[in-house]
Amino acid sequence: MVITFTAIFGLLIGSFLTVVVDRVPRGASIVSPGSACGACGLELGPLDLVPVLSWLALRGKCRRCRTSIGIEPLVLELTTSTLFVLLAMKFHLSWELGAYCTLAAGLVALSWIDLKTKRLPREIIYVTAVIGVPLLCVAALVRHEPKRIWMMLLGAAIALAFMALVYVASRGGMGDGDVRLSPLLGAYLGWLNPGFVAVGLFLGFTLGAVVGIVLMLIGRAGRKTAVPFGPFLAAGTMAAIWVGQPAIDLILHR
Ligand SMILES: [Zn+2]
Repeated sequence: MVITFTAIFGLLIGSFLTVVVDRVPRGASIVSPGSACGACGLELGPLDLVPVLSWLALRGKCRRCRTSIGIEPLVLELTTSTLFVLLAMKFHLSWELGAYCTLAAGLVALSWIDLKTKRLPREIIYVTAVIGVPLLCVAALVRHEPKRIWMMLLGAAIALAFMALVYVASRGGMGDGDVRLSPLLGAYLGWLNPGFVAVGLFLGFTLGAVVGIVLMLIGRAGRKTAVPFGPFLAAGTMAAIWVGQPAIDLILHR
């Protein structure tokens, strides 16, 4: 029941994120005007906005002018929904679930914008933090584990300190958006276990390095090409939610 609900809720949030990733980088309002076809201006009705199904029914084209609307809505809706379901399986019906779904939605939007524009809009980082951090605090108190609030702050500090060092050492190779995002990621992983912050950063940097090398090998990127790093940090963070504990066990029990 919780799973079904989070799956559908994830699709709806993913549909909303399609609007966010289109408008926030342009500085446009995310509430008005309503969604419209970018080519012919046809205003989308409720039926056009049903996640996934409307896209499949119209095969990704505008109902009137048949201009392709791309796979963006489908990718964002399915990714968000999948993450929400995985989180629901881990956290069940709880305040944590709300908190971590907020993170997932924020990271999906940020990653997609970073891939398209090589920017991480601070508005999305702040909105995610303003909704997510209070939820994490409530979750800690509801569980009678107030120490998690300190773990959260410690995680944020570790991530920020590390990324600030990398920022200085890389002399412009690392974007300031990545540094700005890092305390939020650290807070979320720290809430679970401050050790997870190291796991998340390690996974993010490893993934970034592997993809960077592959892009260079296949000639899609030179040594100087700016590769958006936000999606890797986001992926490392999300992965650490599940693999953080096994990774720490592996290191400590060796
Ligand atoms: Zn159209």
